[in-house]
Amino acid sequence: MNKTVNLLGSTGSIGTQTLEVCRKYGISVNSLAARSSCDMLIGQAREFNPTAVCIYDEDCYTKLKNELFGSGIKVLCGMEGLCTLAADSNADITVNAVVGMVGLRPTLAAIESGMDIALANKETLVCGGKLVMESAAKKGVKILPIDSEHSAIFQSIMALRGERGNQFKGIILTASGGPFYGKKAEELENVTIEQALAHPNWSMGKKITVDSATMMNKGLELIEAMWLFDLPPESIEIVIHRQSILHSAVVFSDNAVIGQMGVPDMKIPIQFALTYPERYESLSKPLKLTEIGTLTFEKPDFDTFVCLKTAVEAAKIGGTAPAVVNGANEAATALFIDGKIGFTRIGELVRGAFDEIKSTDITDISDCLRADRKAREYVNSMSKAELCSR
Ligand code: MG
Repeated sequence: MNKTVNLLGSTGSIGTQTLEVCRKYGISVNSLAARSSCDMLIGQAREFNPTAVCIYDEDCYTKLKNELFGSGIKVLCGMEGLCTLAADSNADITVNAVVGMVGLRPTLAAIESGMDIALANKETLVCGGKLVMESAAKKGVKILPIDSEHSAIFQSIMALRGERGNQFKGIILTASGGPFYGKKAEELENVTIEQALAHPNWSMGKKITVDSATMMNKGLELIEAMWLFDLPPESIEIVIHRQSILHSAVVFSDNAVIGQMGVPDMKIPIQFALTYPERYESLSKPLKLTEIGTLTFEKPDFDTFVCLKTAVEAAKIGGTAPAVVNGANEAATALFIDGKIGFTRIGELVRGAFDEIKSTDITDISDCLRADRKAREYVNSMSKAELCSR
């Protein structure tokens, strides 16, 4: 296929699957960026021969530069390098698959240079959705979702292109419920990181897998959907669907519901974002509905999953509230992954930050960054005090 990509977050779960799709269809790779997996990035650079690579962690820069010396590949580092690669218009599209709100500035840089974006980095829209969507509209840039639910919504809307009056009025956002589905708060107090990382349906990176266990992921996705599809939070219904076969659906003005189904495999939405508006054969397995047998749908448990409840409240308040909730969640989840706090503390700290830090309007990126910093400071100071008093 005659297409070229910049790929940010190339060594993560979405990144490596994007490269599988590139390999299958002969999509060229103009640039690759990773956070700190230097050896893996070197291997990818040797295979795909991009014009430039970037390592976010500046401590790895010298090693990367030495290893790629003489290859002709330009080597960059840090946030500045990430933004340079994101905005490199020698590619047709920039895939943003980095984890966390650190992806916001590269997204804005890519839009600024007129690059279409395949977006897997939902935190970008949670923290800076207003800025991203406004500048994308101004520059005429397409934002193609890679997140499976949002890809499903996008595909459902696209399926009706050409029909008249196909206004949609709502979204059914499906959620697997994660590994702790059906559990109550007291049963979650002593769960381990291994249990939190055992997702029933999807194979993903650590941060998003913990987000699925707390159900924060679905709260972030509700905010992501609000921005991508221009709907208020009240028009988005979160539904627990344990089998992860219906990836989400759109409700039209006549109450017709159009959804997208498939096996839970990220290669389907990744490929669609890269080949859109064309569809090609896929590396994923076909869906056999008779082997699945039953599809179930239930209401989420907002009382147990405090992160979900808080994210939905933040969505309704708007302004910097989603950035606060996201920043607190990133900090608390990192502490949980490091074994420093228990699982239910994530929700308590996210709630605490949300209650403590007042939401303000967003006029530029500094508002998002400030809210994010305050939330992280809140979480780190609260947990430090706890660790000292143990
Ligand atoms: Mg998703």
